Amino acid sequence: MRERARRKKAIAAAVGAGAEALVVTHGPDVRYLSGFTGSSGAVALVGGRAALFTDGRYTTQAKAEAAGLRLVIDKRSPAVQAVEWLAAEGVTRCAFDAGHTTVAAMEAMKKALPAAVRRSFLVASDGLVARIREVKDEDEIALMRKAAALGCRLFEDVLEFVVAGAKESDVAAQLEFKARMAGAEAMSFETIVASGERSALPHGRATSAKLPKRGFVTLDFGVLLGGYCSDMTRTVHLGKVSNREWDVYHSVLEAQQEAVARVAPGVRCGDVDEAARSVLRKAGLEKEFSHSTGHGVGLEIHEGPRIAAKQEQLLEPGMVITIEPGAYLSKQSRSLPKSASGTGLFGVRIEDMVLVTAAGGEVLTAASPKAWMEL
Ligand code: ZN
Ligand code: ZN
Repeated sequence: MRERARRKKAIAAAVGAGAEALVVTHGPDVRYLSGFTGSSGAVALVGGRAALFTDGRYTTQAKAEAAGLRLVIDKRSPAVQAVEWLAAEGVTRCAFDAGHTTVAAMEAMKKALPAAVRRSFLVASDGLVARIREVKDEDEIALMRKAAALGCRLFEDVLEFVVAGAKESDVAAQLEFKARMAGAEAMSFETIVASGERSALPHGRATSAKLPKRGFVTLDFGVLLGGYCSDMTRTVHLGKVSNREWDVYHSVLEAQQEAVARVAPGVRCGDVDEAARSVLRKAGLEKEFSHSTGHGVGLEIHEGPRIAAKQEQLLEPGMVITIEPGAYLSKQSRSLPKSASGTGLFGVRIEDMVLVTAAGGEVLTAASPKAWMEL
């Protein structure tokens, strides 16, 4: 029963934020604290008690998934039911996640409260459960290992479709079909297959564009397996390579490896970012690295911590983060070569999932090679 331990941490955090109770409505947080995976639910915590509120569509599912919680089935909004219950239990101050609550939902909760406590009952907090979720427990790490391993297998299996003339969307379709056949519930985000000049787009989702005879193909994808997201990127090359392409690829690879090597408990997230960024800076590619180095991943594809410039947060054992530097050469790019293949527009990104361990970092996507791959 991992959920019980998670609820303990959550209520302690709510007390730390000056409340006696906590109400949670954000789907991944509800799942994390209760096991319930339905699309509409609220978890209320007070002291050692926990209740799950949902509607009649989910009666059977909630009973099966959220054993150990008091279950309340009602047609009304789960959040409204939750605060009503807490107020009836004598709670006067309840933390809620302001980042995932609309103004309308907050007004509805307020309206449902007794007049005597209405004004002071709801204590706005931001990401209280999200912060707990940043550090994965053993069950979560086991699931994330499986998701990451499946991602690696899929990459290997899809390579035969990465050929000149194939459509990006066909490559994505093959990948997604194989993912579902292997048991993935879904992709964890829209699959990116960005080829040729389109590899210069950091978020080039697969289009009907055809893979070129010469150039990079960036595949950035993830599966949702057992509720947990994988996220990885590999960039491969088709046909003859230019010196510039080779150099940029190896600069990005070095940046990625430096950042991975920097991962350890107690290290500032900003320092991991800087480990990647300084390599690209030295290579004259600082401007071409236009995003942050990585992000936490778990029940959601983008979670804390942020691996970005100047982030003071320290890595902790159990965090699972991505390390994904890239370089994108556009027409504006100072580093644009005169010759190279065609226009000289291309991009490279390499991304691994890394588990922060007691000793350092463990790459969960290590089964997929990162060395230069020419198809
Ligand atoms: Zn990714
Ligand atoms: Zn990512």
